[in-house]
Amino acid sequence: MNTTELPESVDLWFNSVVSKTTETPTMKVWDEICAVLRNEPPKLLSVIATRWCELQCEHCVFQRESFARMNEQLPLIVAGLVPEMQGGTLVHEGRVFRPEHRDIFLAAKGMKRGLIDRGSYLAHEGSMPQLDHLDVSLDGPENIHNRQRRNARAYETAMRGLVRGPEFAQKVSSLFTATKINFSYALQTAKLLPERVEWHVTPVSPARPEITHLELSVEEMSIILSDLKAVNHSIRPVVFRIYELADLLKVAQVIGKSDFSELFRNASVARSTILFDLEGLKIAYYPKSLLANETLVVDSDGSYLMPGSVAFSSTELQKQFSRFGEDIAGNVVCRIREGDTVGTLYPKLMDAWQKRFEGFREEISAIHKQLT
Ligand code: SF4
Repeated sequence: MNTTELPESVDLWFNSVVSKTTETPTMKVWDEICAVLRNEPPKLLSVIATRWCELQCEHCVFQRESFARMNEQLPLIVAGLVPEMQGGTLVHEGRVFRPEHRDIFLAAKGMKRGLIDRGSYLAHEGSMPQLDHLDVSLDGPENIHNRQRRNARAYETAMRGLVRGPEFAQKVSSLFTATKINFSYALQTAKLLPERVEWHVTPVSPARPEITHLELSVEEMSIILSDLKAVNHSIRPVVFRIYELADLLKVAQVIGKSDFSELFRNASVARSTILFDLEGLKIAYYPKSLLANETLVVDSDGSYLMPGSVAFSSTELQKQFSRFGEDIAGNVVCRIREGDTVGTLYPKLMDAWQKRFEGFREEISAIHKQLT
């Protein structure tokens, strides 16, 4: 249970997993969760300032897109949202930092500032705002990182970005995206990171069908879990972040039903997150059915996106059909207009979100099977 007086959506979600009576969750339970989710607007504002990047890494959730110029409306859109997001964080999520993006940060008065980057921010260091949090990804030792990033100088850029990170941000972290290419290099990577960098590891998200071949098998999950426990024990603290139900089920297979059941029953919760302690290794699981309240995503063209929609290109989202001919109309909640606020936007997302009962039911049933 979280420490607030009223239960949050995550408490209801967790209770519906561990309760023996909800093996097949009902619409009533989902409606109750959605009613609470509606009162939990995101405190994180993710801005895709540009869809362009000079790289196209193996594991990137974005597709290759060419339009680089910043939409002039983005700082105005951000300024309209910040009054209701005070104390929250604006995160620049895409794809590379460019000098004009400084205006987006400056518009986020009263919010913390975060940047997710590959180290290329140093090319524009004169335009960098002071940040609260900078994340620079490192996916392995030099040859492995460069292979996953498909660029011969990517490692050098990332290491420079990490080493100089404290000049620009109070907190510097690094994310290792575990794939078939680098899963056995976690120990080596942990030793390469500068001392004060906080380390996070996540299995690759199969957000795009083109990258599903990079997903970890159960055997590979077993190897990385064992290495991360060793890293956590003797090299540096690490948090293993899981966003996909399939990856959580792989963890269950690796440690066995009985231990998984115990892990789950001893879990704690935070906003939209289930926290496990696996022999000292921290694992954070983010249930997909609760992602509505995680972050408010503003796309480079000023659209308000459903979580997970960045894997579709701007062109696909505008046409409302994917490159595979699939109808993807629901991925854009709306175009954000002047005067829109979190209070006018978030209920629109929740109206669409509440229709996702089947996803919730599958999620709960699959986990519940591991607990019985
Ligand atoms: S992972 Fe980052 S650096 Fe690599 S292509 Fe995607 S946005 Fe660019």
